[in-house]
Amino acid sequence: MQATTADHALERAWAVLESVPDPEIPVVSIRELGILRDVRRAADGQLEVVITPTYSGCPAMSQIAEDVAHALDTAALAPYRIETTLSPAWTTDWITDAAREKLRAYGIAPPTGQCGSGAAATGEQPVTFMPRSGARPLPTPACPRCGSQHTERLAQFGSTACKALYRCLDCREPFDYFKPY
Ligand SMILES: [Zn+2]
Repeated sequence: MQATTADHALERAWAVLESVPDPEIPVVSIRELGILRDVRRAADGQLEVVITPTYSGCPAMSQIAEDVAHALDTAALAPYRIETTLSPAWTTDWITDAAREKLRAYGIAPPTGQCGSGAAATGEQPVTFMPRSGARPLPTPACPRCGSQHTERLAQFGSTACKALYRCLDCREPFDYFKPY
């Protein structure tokens, strides 16, 4: 797996791109959100970055590609190619546990439940959420500030389409909930 000559450009590209923040939630990186899928050498030897959009039509996506390009340009890593892949589709399951904690600290309730199999040890209550079925109500997110489960949804869409607006009934603070997807 390890070539005799390390691919320094590839290593630097990973290092640079791991610190690219999400344009909407700057406390987490695109790597932590699972948007940055791969940094690799394509068959023709060119540096290739693979990103997967979050919610379809998320307006942040073109911004993310621009940020990736800017980071690579700044690090003098051109030429490169940015590939956008839609399969497998992005899911909130790809958000790392560390990023979930950062979201909570930032005041955004991280997605509850798991869309796939295997419950990650996030400290969340084990809620099974069936995505896209429309039949089940969303699990109630805990307030990111006080931890209360006593919350209510104010709006289906919060500051962006990716989030819903909730309010804590204990501390009375509204908060964004990163919807499971
Ligand atoms: Zn609260």
